[in-house]
Amino acid sequence: MMERSKVLVQLQQWIQVRQQLLGKRAYGQPSSGEAVSVLRQAAMVSAAKSAGASSSSRPSLVTETEVLLPSVRLPRFRMAVVGGEDLFSAVPEWQQSQSLGELYKHIHTCTKCSLGLTRTHFVFGVGNPNADIVLVGEAPGAEEDARGEPFVGAAGQLLNRMLQAIGFRREDVYICNILKCRPPNNRRPMPQEIETCRPYLWKQLELIQPAFLLALGATAAAALLQRDYKIADLRGRAIPFHGLVMVVTYHPAALLRNPQWKRPAWEDLQLLRRLYDAYRQRLQAVQR
Ligand code: SF4
Repeated sequence: MMERSKVLVQLQQWIQVRQQLLGKRAYGQPSSGEAVSVLRQAAMVSAAKSAGASSSSRPSLVTETEVLLPSVRLPRFRMAVVGGEDLFSAVPEWQQSQSLGELYKHIHTCTKCSLGLTRTHFVFGVGNPNADIVLVGEAPGAEEDARGEPFVGAAGQLLNRMLQAIGFRREDVYICNILKCRPPNNRRPMPQEIETCRPYLWKQLELIQPAFLLALGATAAAALLQRDYKIADLRGRAIPFHGLVMVVTYHPAALLRNPQWKRPAWEDLQLLRRLYDAYRQRLQAVQR
């Protein structure tokens, strides 16, 4: 009898900790340890892995209270090897890069797609090379192309304010795009361009090892998940993504054109902040 009440006390303590971290509705299900945990095992399939596998137009997503946290173990993210599959193809040098600087040196003259011939500047990415959060947009615009830096100009200033609103500085996070070169006239990236350029982003993520991705806009989210979704199906949720957790919100340029979307974008950012805080607490608990 004594033993049973001890177990009950421990269970109550555990539930309190979970409530503090994740809110009242988050308790009541087991955690799966270091991996990204979800309350329903069936929902654990990442949206990325489900690409193409489901007949439903809605991805296998889980709500905020269902997703726990990114893995605290590194490496969280590893890209698949490009090349080197057989005796006659070597793993490209850029993929063997050990730092973002080294990667930049290898790829900043890339002309694998036609955008390499029309760009002014290659736009690699900026920010903290050890960031917990990586922001991913679609492609450089005119100002980014002119300056060689992502998210500058009016959309960039709004992005800075959005970050500040949840307690981050621009230099705390890492900011990049799916494409490193500007599509002419700011047209949407072509599927082939995304396909060709995406491995560079995978390598950036492998080197940074973030815990969270903030996808800015439906195009960026679709490129990451490798399947088209409506932004309404993605935003407001935490999406497990290869050991990371992804949050999707509107692109700042879209927010400038559609101020009515600022409220849901604010909710997305608050979600990211709550998840980040819970992750940091868990990390500290593990490191103690
Ligand atoms: S967009 Fe990407 S793949 Fe195309 S040229 Fe630029 S860096 Fe290379």
